[in-house]
Amino acid sequence: MVQRKYLIVLTGIALSTFCQAQKDYARKVVDTLASPYMEGRGYTDNGDKKAATYIHSQFKSFGLLPFGTDYEQYFKFPINTLPSKVEVSVNGVLQPPGADYIVVPNSCSMKGTYKVKRLTRTILFDKAKLYEFTHEDLKKQFILVDDTGVTDKKEKEVFQGLVYNPFKAKGVIVLCNKLTQEMSDSVADYAFLYALRKSKFDSATTITLDVENKFIKSYESQNLIGYIKGSVQPDTFIVFSAHYDHLGRMGSVYFPGANDNASGTAMLLSLAKFYSEHKEAAKYSMVFMSFTGEEVGLLGSKYYVEHPLFPLSKIKFEINMDIMGTGDEGITVVNGAIYDAPFHDMQRINDSLHLLKLVKPRGQTSNSDHYFFYAHHVPSFFIYTMGGIKAYHDIYDRRETLPLTDFDNVYKLILNFAEDISEHRF
Ligand SMILES: [Zn+2]
Repeated sequence: MVQRKYLIVLTGIALSTFCQAQKDYARKVVDTLASPYMEGRGYTDNGDKKAATYIHSQFKSFGLLPFGTDYEQYFKFPINTLPSKVEVSVNGVLQPPGADYIVVPNSCSMKGTYKVKRLTRTILFDKAKLYEFTHEDLKKQFILVDDTGVTDKKEKEVFQGLVYNPFKAKGVIVLCNKLTQEMSDSVADYAFLYALRKSKFDSATTITLDVENKFIKSYESQNLIGYIKGSVQPDTFIVFSAHYDHLGRMGSVYFPGANDNASGTAMLLSLAKFYSEHKEAAKYSMVFMSFTGEEVGLLGSKYYVEHPLFPLSKIKFEINMDIMGTGDEGITVVNGAIYDAPFHDMQRINDSLHLLKLVKPRGQTSNSDHYFFYAHHVPSFFIYTMGGIKAYHDIYDRRETLPLTDFDNVYKLILNFAEDISEHRF
């Protein structure tokens, strides 16, 4: 490998600083996208469309070019939502949604009061007891899954399988220590809830539900893609991506998704802003992709790589950003363990500019939008920040508590890394 100097020539002027105006801009993006108006950027109350309209306006203000007639790339997918009523009572007492429980959105509509039967390790792994447990008609009852005392890996797997309702109960409540909401593209024939172990659900003997689901067979959503034309080699591309969608609503509560991924969108837009103000820094064409459908299963990026707007082989590098809101413990670079040379470049940039506490390599994962690029042989990194607040896929991932601790340092690292990719061949 050739020894390189890390002198930031062209972009150095701006890269050594991250001024108040830049900070203010990133904060404003997070505050806007995580606001109640955006409805959690899901598929109820046009949350995704409101977010897309905002991102469109930002792209436009930076003068980004569209590949076709506009930035939007539309496509459709099925989605189950809980847009209106989600009310759950335990032993006759109404429970706080989002705080003590979540209804997972593969649940069907349900209205009524049902008996709750507790399923523990002692019952599940004892044939006689399990026979007795399942002998009763569970179709009209809820199972309360309590995995206390389960440490064995195989036992854990059996417990995890209970979310699929193998005993055909009316509903399943899984006790847990942290609520983590998901998305679903299908509807089950039972209700599925997660509830905090330390909540009233732990002592539930009856449960009363008034839940309404709305299944949308073909919901139209949109990716947004814009670029700054390269000044030296415009037919080669560096792609920055971040998903803007989140988990939407669950009845009366919404999931703000400040860290996941209003923060990544703020980074994407900050980078777009930088290149729009420093066009000379874009030797290659710099592409900005704002994906939808990530939380449903990487749908936006999957659709994109299957319907690319320019040949994927022309992408020099793809940098995906998801969860940019902290950084106290540094960053993890997914694929850093695969693309050795670029990763070491990033580490050296970090060391020489004294940016982050740690730049940690990780192998391949399929947990964000870099995945389908990587699967299509596009060199790609997925960067996420570590440390700080632990809110994730819950109602506490809020703008008010998102610190953006090392946002400026991650920004500098990414810009310098992109500059380096332009300068060198890996
Ligand atoms: Zn995310």
